[in-house]
Amino acid sequence: MTSLKTKHTLWTVTLLFAFLSQWHVHGQKTNKKPSLNGKNIVFVYGGWKGHKPAESVDVFLPKLEAEGANVKVFNSLDAYTDKELMDDADLIIQTWTMGNLSKEQLNGLRRAVLNGTGLAGWHGGLGDSFRNNIHYQFMVGGQFLSHPGGQTEHIVTITNKKDPITKGIKDFQLKTEQYYMLIDPNIQVLATTTFDRDSYKKKGKAGIENKITGSVIPVVWKKNYGKGRVFYSSIGHNMTDFNIPQVMKMQMRGLRWASEGKYLPAENTISPIYK
Ligand SMILES: [Zn+2]
Repeated sequence: MTSLKTKHTLWTVTLLFAFLSQWHVHGQKTNKKPSLNGKNIVFVYGGWKGHKPAESVDVFLPKLEAEGANVKVFNSLDAYTDKELMDDADLIIQTWTMGNLSKEQLNGLRRAVLNGTGLAGWHGGLGDSFRNNIHYQFMVGGQFLSHPGGQTEHIVTITNKKDPITKGIKDFQLKTEQYYMLIDPNIQVLATTTFDRDSYKKKGKAGIENKITGSVIPVVWKKNYGKGRVFYSSIGHNMTDFNIPQVMKMQMRGLRWASEGKYLPAENTISPIYK
């Protein structure tokens, strides 16, 4: 009798434990907080070497893996033509400045993002990638034009203090390229920068950039493309820019957010500035 009772108690405890574990796992899966844990990431690097694409992998890969992401790294845009790889991807991180995207590569990338795979990156690796490809630029929501004055001291202003990507981050100053970009006016801007110098003379060149004093240009934004989430930050000419805690924090939060297109409810990111 005693033995049966003990067995019964043991079974009850086991079942209760199993139930609680399942609930716990379920709870994690439905947790609203974006996470890279268990996510499949395709990291594509290459293009213009001045932006140190290989070093960008060295900086970010350990951080992604430490958060539990399954990361596959490619040094070729042909990764976008691998349908199975793209179908399984939760997030594509691209650091590829300039270069060209073939029709097949573009179609593979677009199809994945339209179906919910996120696309994220920084600086020229996402925002100055394929200058002749308007379909790509439509997806990203902006295109680099110039960095007046080269690397300058400037301030990044957090304009959306409520969004989880920028929440708690204060305005900060840094010395790096200050990107002047063409922008889709419907993206959801989270941070901006103001061009506040009298002139932006380039070293060794006689001319002065077009008068831009007072111009405000987005630095960090998010948007949707189909079911996919797109996140961009224009900071990152030097990999040391990511040593600034605010820069790395926003970037990692943006990567997490972008990885959730297949799991969390869609957000309306359309924020028209002309109405
Ligand atoms: Zn640069």
